Amino acid sequence: MPAIHYDAPAWAERAEVNPGDILIADGDFTCIDAGTRLTVERDLHSPDLYVRCSEGKHYLDGQLDDQGRYVGLFPPEHAPC
Ligand SMILES: [Zn+2]
Repeated sequence: MPAIHYDAPAWAERAEVNPGDILIADGDFTCIDAGTRLTVERDLHSPDLYVRCSEGKHYLDGQLDDQGRYVGLFPPEHAPC
């Protein structure tokens, strides 16, 4: 019997996310409500992307997995809700 397997969530890919894009948060953030629509932002002269959260700026690099995906953030077309 194969192990029960969940399809990998369709997290946003770093290579496809740009400032101004919308991402949808899943429920695993302590500082962002599940399902929140977030606008990707970037400060002038900085390469670091972030979204706004209850604590200020939430840098996307902190969500990166080893496949270059932002864990917990869906592109709108893949949002589960
Ligand atoms: Zn945060």
